Amino acid sequence: MHMRVQIAILAGDGIGPEVIAEALRVLRVIAEFSNIEFRFAEYPFGAAAWKRTGVPLPSATLEACLHADAVLLGAVGAPECDGLPREQRPETGLLALRSRLGGYANLRPAIAYDAIAAGSPLKASVVSGADLLVVRELLGGLYFGEPRGIAPDGSSAFNTMCYSVEQVERIARVAFREAARRRKKVTSVDKANVLETSRLWRQVVSRVGQDFPEVTLDHMYVDACAMQLVTDPRRFDVILTENLFGDILSDEAAVIAGSLGMLASASIGGKVGLYEPVHGSAPDIAGRGIANPLGAIASAAMMLRYTAGLEQEASDIESAIRRALEAGYRTADLARGSVAKVVSTIEMGAAVECELAGILDRRCSYHAV
Ligand code: NAD
Repeated sequence: MHMRVQIAILAGDGIGPEVIAEALRVLRVIAEFSNIEFRFAEYPFGAAAWKRTGVPLPSATLEACLHADAVLLGAVGAPECDGLPREQRPETGLLALRSRLGGYANLRPAIAYDAIAAGSPLKASVVSGADLLVVRELLGGLYFGEPRGIAPDGSSAFNTMCYSVEQVERIARVAFREAARRRKKVTSVDKANVLETSRLWRQVVSRVGQDFPEVTLDHMYVDACAMQLVTDPRRFDVILTENLFGDILSDEAAVIAGSLGMLASASIGGKVGLYEPVHGSAPDIAGRGIANPLGAIASAAMMLRYTAGLEQEASDIESAIRRALEAGYRTADLARGSVAKVVSTIEMGAAVECELAGILDRRCSYHAV
């Protein structure tokens, strides 16, 4: 059956366009071997859009995203935008996009591939075999709470942390559903010894957990979780947490994966799914062709899984990533210790493309026999 998926591409700034080009390369292989047609249309976003239009999220870009099946995003941010008023900053455009697309559930897997565990900044014996999923609430908490601001005389500043029962319930359901498909364990992370929002969070998560008797639930304070992530990451399956804690913990989880460049994400539950690597625009390495594209490629796999329901194709891409690493390919961020093949962004994309074509080709030949 022919299937068409309309994808809005927001490559953004810095290394964004470099890594997105490799994700598209991999999606084209999927199209070549199947009846799936991807329609890619690229739109200006972030600092690149601000330079052309004065705003980071032009209305035409937003409209196109709202009418697409999915949005694949690179990264935003540029040093020259750091001094801009808040509404013109690329990061504000990203928050506005997330909010308008309505994806309240941010899924961030962190996998310690055996092939690169030896080069991890953590001991291989600690990370090896770790495979966890951070489910982060994305539209509530401190990042969106009102009132917020800086006192007119600059003497103080304030933000508001607020969560409703409904907001906690819906994100908790996502986490339990994901856990039910994995190793059936949810660790809910909060700061219930200090924050009222966390006390509500804990109550609601416990109640939702009763609807998923096959999933084990435990609660952990965020400071303890930060420590356990680097001392005993294998203990986690699904980590469920609010916006700010999730932002920090999922970046910390990058150590498990070996590099920030490895991490993918999906923001789902809203009108249109948003898929993006966890990293930023990395101005320190932009334009040098050395960025790790695997987070962007894995984000494209998540897009196939969550927006298009193409589980087989998503896991084929994930297998191709694993095989490229097993074959010894490393971008510079992964090249710790003695490594055979330190490759560019494009070469890593090509390695995944080649592995994926091999996987799909073997399956076609098998079915043809
Ligand atoms: P960053 O993620 O861009 O970079 C942090 C470090 O990780 C850098 O040393 C960078 O070189 C490295 N790195 C990141 N991605 C990599 C990859 N794919 N391959 C190899 N190395 C990689 O974070 P930052 O430096 O704090 O922020 C830079 C800009 O990005 C800022 O403007 C920030 O606001 C923005 N930002 C955007 C997003 C997003 O678009 N989702 C997320 C975080 C930061």
